[in-house]
Amino acid sequence: MSDTIQAIRGMSDVLPADAPLWEFFEDTVRQWLRDYGYRNIRMPIVEKTELFVRSIGEVTDIVEKEMYTFVDQLNGESLTLRPEGTASCVRAVLQHNLLYAGPQRLFYSGPMFRHERPQKGRYRQFHQVGVEALGLPGPDVDAEHMVMCARLWQRLGLDGIRLEINTLGGAESRARYRARLVKYLESRIDELDEDARRRLHGNPLRVLDSKNPAMRDVVEQAPRLYDDLDEESLRHFETLQQILRSVDIDYEIKPRLVRGLDYYNLTVSEWTTDRLGAQATVCAGGRYDGLFAQLGGKPAPACGFAMGVERLLVLMAESSAVEVPADAPAVYVVHAGEETRAPAWRAAEALRQAGIPVVLHCGEGSFKSQMRRADASGARFALIVGESEAQANRVGIKPLRDPGVQETLELSEALARIRGTSN
Ligand code: ATP
Ligand code: MG
Repeated sequence: MSDTIQAIRGMSDVLPADAPLWEFFEDTVRQWLRDYGYRNIRMPIVEKTELFVRSIGEVTDIVEKEMYTFVDQLNGESLTLRPEGTASCVRAVLQHNLLYAGPQRLFYSGPMFRHERPQKGRYRQFHQVGVEALGLPGPDVDAEHMVMCARLWQRLGLDGIRLEINTLGGAESRARYRARLVKYLESRIDELDEDARRRLHGNPLRVLDSKNPAMRDVVEQAPRLYDDLDEESLRHFETLQQILRSVDIDYEIKPRLVRGLDYYNLTVSEWTTDRLGAQATVCAGGRYDGLFAQLGGKPAPACGFAMGVERLLVLMAESSAVEVPADAPAVYVVHAGEETRAPAWRAAEALRQAGIPVVLHCGEGSFKSQMRRADASGARFALIVGESEAQANRVGIKPLRDPGVQETLELSEALARIRGTSN
């Protein structure tokens, strides 16, 4: 076994035993998005490197050290596996001029790639569901996103996920704050770690996003952006909070919450939990009104969020609030002998046409060993087509999960019996 090929570190397989949880999550999310009027958009997994550098910002963890960037051997172009979806989504909306038709409520989902140190809740290939509302200035739509998330946690059976919000203000108030912050950070330069020193002039707000415990005091003592806010930003933030209160969504204002990416303004938010150690954030987002122009398009207001699917699945696996539907077939068809093949196939197809999931035994096997397989499949019924059943144009049906005897019935009666217990 020593020379079998293994998956790349930090990139996981989802095995069949775990798939029902993923599928339950995906089904729930799809219905939830439909309930709020969001439509699906699907972008390529690979984009030009420049897209991410221009949108996410050069002085960020992602662009500085986490991107899977490579040169296309055929034409020398620099390409990158997408580390997040917002940049691609905005690129696609610009490229296809979607805002021409009015505001867009969009979502996407799929794998993202970041070269990080793998640990629980942190992988190199991970999955996000991203939601973007484009062409709407807020703050109503900012609130809509938060309300949506709160409802989704309920549908997924999750509690203890807390909403933290902040505002980064508009460009002017941020510039004022930035100057004040740089002055403060310079006054404590001896306590700054290497990342912080590098960012001090390139991207000082990001210093507040530091995860280094040694930096905690510096971050906590930092001046607050709030004190530099212009009136319009304050009003935006206040209305957002009014809406949240009106629909009973709890939140906490975190004055030093800044998001990891450069493109945010005004509202930023994170949903966090105590149950995932250092990987506490399950969903994060905010407003990014400057991104369209930054990517060369006509300016347009925008806001969105992305959730980390793996982190939510860990929480779901630990919660017992919702029952995840099993993926076992309803029926396993057992058949023995040449003459039974055709009726067994016909019965299996008829059940499937009637919407009943069926596994048909393939290969040889004694009646007894086939029944063992039927049992192991998790099916609720074995449908038995032996020679006597075939001759009588009937089928045997045996409950596998509940007590009950085998009966011989017409196929239509068997179908009714199966349906009767299926809902
Ligand atoms: P973190 O602070 O945990 O590094 P981030 O700020 O880099 O997160 P975002 O870019 O905001 O994360 O991505 C949104 C969400 O995607 C995160 O809140 C998290 O749930 C999830 N996520 C981000 N990076 C990873 C990863 N490497 N593995 C698994 N999930 C991730
Ligand atoms: Mg990160």
